[in-house]
Amino acid sequence: MSSEYEPLHSMASEFFAKRAVPRRSQWCEQGRIDREFWTSAGELGLLCCAIPEQYGGGGATIAHDFAVLDAFVEAGLSPASLQVHSIVVPHYLLAYAPEGQRQRWLPALASGGAVAAIAMTEPDTGSDLKAIRTRARPCAGGYAISGAKTFITNGSSADLLIVAAATEPGRGARGLSLFLVDTRQVTGFTVARVLDKIGHHDSDTAELVFQDMVVSEDCLLGQPGQGWQMLMGQLSQERLSVAVAAASAMKRAIRLTVDYANARKAFGQCLIDHQHVRFELAECATIERVAGVFLGDCVERLVARSLDSTTAAMAKWWFSEMECQVVDRCLQLFGGYGYMKEYPIADQYLNARAQKIYGGTNEVMKEIIGRTLRQ
Ligand SMILES: Cc1cc2nc3c(=O)[nH]c(=O)nc-3n(C[C@H](O)[C@H](O)[C@H](O)COP(=O)(O)OP(=O)(O)OC[C@H]3O[C@@H](n4cnc5c(N)ncnc54)[C@H](O)[C@@H]3O)c2cc1C
Repeated sequence: MSSEYEPLHSMASEFFAKRAVPRRSQWCEQGRIDREFWTSAGELGLLCCAIPEQYGGGGATIAHDFAVLDAFVEAGLSPASLQVHSIVVPHYLLAYAPEGQRQRWLPALASGGAVAAIAMTEPDTGSDLKAIRTRARPCAGGYAISGAKTFITNGSSADLLIVAAATEPGRGARGLSLFLVDTRQVTGFTVARVLDKIGHHDSDTAELVFQDMVVSEDCLLGQPGQGWQMLMGQLSQERLSVAVAAASAMKRAIRLTVDYANARKAFGQCLIDHQHVRFELAECATIERVAGVFLGDCVERLVARSLDSTTAAMAKWWFSEMECQVVDRCLQLFGGYGYMKEYPIADQYLNARAQKIYGGTNEVMKEIIGRTLRQ
């Protein structure tokens, strides 16, 4: 991380240490982040850093949002809620929403007064987004949306939901559209279930049902049938944020394990004095260092708007894979303690696993990369 981001990073770290870490076990019990956290993070300018000031954002770059995300993960918090709220949803609004909707929502997201989510995945389809069955039918004054979504981060706490729905079923990608839904105002919106996950306990993941949920015409993002294009335009940023979270998680796992290996004794010496332990940590630290260079390059390209979808896919699969490998190796060095919930490395192990699944599975990432290699 360059010195440009350090003041923001250290302010974020201090804030998360004081206002999030002590609340985390409560968040895990209730399965969601407190409202108060969002508003106090907003007050401090830690949300939506890359959104222009005229819309209440920080007027900075996405790299600033990544610095905040890095501090969040380093504090031991799972990344998805913050990613979706600050790094994903506001950019759909900025790029595609009518001006009235931008003015309505962006200041609310940046201040933490409203929480955001995006609903693409359905019970019957995730990777194959073109097959989604949620339907949006034109009706008097707008669209009536019916269908179901699952695994939606912030799903039960979101005030603003972006919903992917078919406006012309049977046309695949060309029949897909995106809608803004104010969950506080619509009828026909139900949180069917808050899902019980193996990790990410501090983050809310829900199943949602829409029954003739009517939204006005200006809730459509872009034009009917442009949903796929918009998703493809935004997914690289989301995928790179997964890589950023993975890099932060590796850093944290190595730091925790180095401390442990220097303190824990076995066979009359510290763990770190055993060559195998040093070699394990040496390899993990090298992966982390190499990863930092690749990540820096990707972030620079994203800020310069030149990050291509293939490189973003490479970053998403490789970083999440490395995170799982590094965290697993670190957990092993904790011995039995690594398997105990009270040890943060155990949490990291469970959180890491989701990173290979969301934002597009790693198999889908390899498909995207592999396609470019066919002659
Ligand atoms: C914690 C968490 C948070 C999430 N948050 C959100 C969210 O906020 N919004 C949202 O919309 N979704 C969210 N998701 C859903 C996530 O994006 C999907 O789970 C993911 O895209 C995979 O879809 P699926 O679960 O339907 O799996 P499927 O698509 O059914 O895939 C099952 C398996 O088959 C493999 N597979 C599928 N197609 C191919 C292929 N063509 N080639 C090779 N292998 C293939 C997959 O890689 C996977 O291993 C979240 C998921 C989790 C776990």
